[in-house]
Amino acid sequence: MRRPLMAGNWKMNKTISESVSFVRMLKAAVSGVKDIGIIICPTFISTNAVYGEVKDSNISVGAQNLFWEEKGAFTGEVSAAMLRDAGCSYVLIGHSERRQYFGETNEIINKKIKAALSNGIVPVLCVGESLKEREENSTFEIIENQLKESLSGFSQEDASKLVVAYEPVWAIGTGKTAAPQQAQEVHAFIRRIYSEMYNNIIADKVRIIYGGSVKPDNVSELMKQSDIDGGLVGGASLELESFVKLITYSRS
Ligand code: PEP
Repeated sequence: MRRPLMAGNWKMNKTISESVSFVRMLKAAVSGVKDIGIIICPTFISTNAVYGEVKDSNISVGAQNLFWEEKGAFTGEVSAAMLRDAGCSYVLIGHSERRQYFGETNEIINKKIKAALSNGIVPVLCVGESLKEREENSTFEIIENQLKESLSGFSQEDASKLVVAYEPVWAIGTGKTAAPQQAQEVHAFIRRIYSEMYNNIIADKVRIIYGGSVKPDNVSELMKQSDIDGGLVGGASLELESFVKLITYSRS
């Protein structure tokens, strides 16, 4: 039985004080929730303050990125050990905005996953096809390639620690959600690739969450799909009311 996850990716939004006041209200609103993991990914500079607010609660903190080296002359970068120290237990790796605007390749993503795992942080590996790739019918090829290259060299034990996020690029921040069956098809495919690369037990265990315009009015249908284990949410995680609705979808 996979425990579902609902992760909010705040991207470059909210100051430190806005982040802290949001999680203070979130903590009160979801204090009784036990059946779903809740993650907030604020900006780097807010992670520690957010952690201070949620450390004894059912909310975990994630980062949106990391750099793979431990320390040194890498101006502007933040290491996995620093994130761990700031209270992060998850980190998004290979988000499509990082791939698109910052040139992240599967090779870079591979190094980042390694750094996260060596510091006890759960990597949330983001994969997904662009609209052009979907229209060219290369979705499955793209996803397979992203998984195989990003996970190259990892043991079964490493692979079992990851969360995978399927985020069709054309659905991120556009208001266009993949149809639940369309998302399920790719999630099932990701699980199949995982089982080919590792084994059935690990494939069955790995959580595969969906991202791309998840909103209160589409979350239930998405979450009914057998291979969708949660959501990675941008826009709808910035408002308390909508994020709480996503977390409590099964009770609404
Ligand atoms: C995201 O940033 O990962 C995302 C899915 O954004 P949105 O929910 O706004 O589409």
